[in-house]
Amino acid sequence: MQVFKFGGASVKDAAGVRNVAKVLQFTGVEDKIIVISAMGKITNALEEVITLYVEKSPKLKDKIKQIKDYHYAILDQLFNEPQHPAYTKTNYFLDELEIFLERNKSPNYDYVYDQVVCFGELISTSIVSQYLKSQGILNTWLDGRSLIDTDDTYRDAKVNWERTQTKINAHVERNELCITQGFIGSDENNFTTTLGREGSDYTAAIFAYCLNAEAVYIWKDVPGVLNGDPNVFEDTQLLHKISYEEAIELAFYGASVIHPKTLQPLQKKEIPLHVKSFQNPENKGTVVAKGQLIEPLIPCYIVQKNLVLLSLSAIDFSFFVEENISEVFALLHKHQIKVDLIQNSAISFSVCVDNKFNNVGKLIEILKAKFKVTYNKGVSLYTVRHFDQKAIQKIEKNKQVLLKQLTRETIQLVVKE
Ligand code: ASP
Ligand code: MG
Repeated sequence: MQVFKFGGASVKDAAGVRNVAKVLQFTGVEDKIIVISAMGKITNALEEVITLYVEKSPKLKDKIKQIKDYHYAILDQLFNEPQHPAYTKTNYFLDELEIFLERNKSPNYDYVYDQVVCFGELISTSIVSQYLKSQGILNTWLDGRSLIDTDDTYRDAKVNWERTQTKINAHVERNELCITQGFIGSDENNFTTTLGREGSDYTAAIFAYCLNAEAVYIWKDVPGVLNGDPNVFEDTQLLHKISYEEAIELAFYGASVIHPKTLQPLQKKEIPLHVKSFQNPENKGTVVAKGQLIEPLIPCYIVQKNLVLLSLSAIDFSFFVEENISEVFALLHKHQIKVDLIQNSAISFSVCVDNKFNNVGKLIEILKAKFKVTYNKGVSLYTVRHFDQKAIQKIEKNKQVLLKQLTRETIQLVVKE
């Protein structure tokens, strides 16, 4: 059995949906389960619906209409008959959405969020399923909510693996083609839950784990995993093979490769994950699997921008030791500040942090009461895995290096650009 995942970008329009059929014609349709995200940017649009609903805005109806029109434009291009069941299903889900909004009494934002955003995936999968049928590709549409069993942490639900495994094995027909939604599940009371934004890859991994699948394929608009973000770095190259460990390392340093949450269940059962282009399914792409770290062995570049480099020393210039360091970390944790790099010497301690929640200013004020503090805002942290001299020169060129740290596999540079 294989698990396929198509993201929002791959089904953003009618051409995208047609292309899913093309990919399946290329790969064959037997013994597969396909996990699909909401079309294009529909999850964002549904988030706007929730905001308008909570604000009791008169614009709510328009927003829902926009979502309806978006799907209708795709339906109109895929099916020539307005009586087609694909329209009925889409209408059914849109009605369900409106009924929920009318009847809901819960003030719990996260609960409301999950009951609303799920319609993106429910509609996209029903359209793709109907389209494939119209092309003679038989398939079974499955409601992911009755397969993925979670707790009730809305918007970040935790999977109950045992119950999920039982349900999946009871409902997924082997030897056939099944289609289901990414990102959604349900709790004990049958309320819809979601696994966190961009959670569809994780759903694919959950199915693969529970079905002991032979492989997972994530179909993307890029040729696979590259050795750097092509929007930032020149001459990026495709990585043919990376190990689970390497993928986790790359993600840790900030690469938007594959989320470790997705990799963990696959790594446990050594199920390979292929990242391939949905435009060119015949190309090999990247495989994440057990074994050698990386192939080809070339430097991989990651950059995190807009960080803050803090340097602390004791006011009396005494050594900066365990006691001070643990105090600093407790404060970082308390202010939800993510640490990207640390370095210490006898009398000073440097830490490069993320200022995502704009908490760093507050933290600096608190630190100043106890330590001598200097800081640099707006710095960038470059990480190069499997570096060589040329790679270092490339990064250092035209930049002021504030801090450098080197291990066998990885070099990190904090720079001012
Ligand atoms: N549709 C959801 C999102 O946009 C889940 C996913 O695409 O993975 O976050
Ligand atoms: Mg998506």
